[in-house]
Amino acid sequence: LNIFGCIEGLNQHLERTFINDMDFEQLDNLKGFMPSHEGLALTKWAEKFSQCGPALEIGTFGAKSALYIAAGSSIHDELVYTIDHHSGSEEHQLGEEYFDPEIYDKKLGRVNTVPLMQANLQQFDESKWVVPILANANSIASSWKAELGLLFIDGSHTEISALNDYDNWSSKLHSNGALVIHDIYEKPEDGGQAPYLIYQKALTEGFQLYERVDTIVCLSKA
Ligand code: MG
Repeated sequence: LNIFGCIEGLNQHLERTFINDMDFEQLDNLKGFMPSHEGLALTKWAEKFSQCGPALEIGTFGAKSALYIAAGSSIHDELVYTIDHHSGSEEHQLGEEYFDPEIYDKKLGRVNTVPLMQANLQQFDESKWVVPILANANSIASSWKAELGLLFIDGSHTEISALNDYDNWSSKLHSNGALVIHDIYEKPEDGGQAPYLIYQKALTEGFQLYERVDTIVCLSKA
C-alpha cells in the first residue's frame, strides 16, 4: 500500500485515514509530543527507508511516534526499536514546565513513563512491531550491531544528550538509510537549540536534507 496519496491534503483527510490498518485519528488522540502532520511524515519516511532495515527511535515517552513509525516500517516487515530510560526528560520533572502528575510514580518517587507507554501500545495491533528497550541509549550503543534503515532522534534536548545520541548512533545507519530529528528551531526564542545543533553537524558530515515537515527533518546520505 502506497501512502503518498494520503499525505496530500493531510489536514482535510486526517480522520479515518488508514495505512496498513493504522487508525491515525485514534493515534493522534494519544498523549504525546508528536503532532499529526509530523507523525504522518514519520510514517511516510519509515515506509521508504525501512526498505534498508529496521527503525530505531531514541526517546519513547508514550510510544506515539513509535506507532507512527511502525505504520510505515511494518509495510516492509521491519520492527521499530525504541529506547528510553522512561524517567522523563528534564522538562518533565517535578516543578518543570511539562510536569504531568499522570506520569509521576509516587512509589518510585520519580517520573515513570512505562505505564503510559503500555497503555498506549495496547490500543493498537501495530504495537507488535514496536520493541521497547528500557535503557540509556548511550550505554547500549556500542553493543548495537543491526544496521538501521531509519534513526529517529527525539530524546533529551540538552546539548550533550543530543550530541551523544547523534555521535553514538548515526554510524549505525545503512548507507541508504535516513536520519530523522525532531524539534528543529532555527531561533532560540522558538525552542531549544540542541536538535538544530546536531542537524547542522549532520549536514557537515555527509548528510543532506531529504525532506522537512514543520519541525521534523529527514536526512539521507545518498
Ligand atoms: Mg520531540
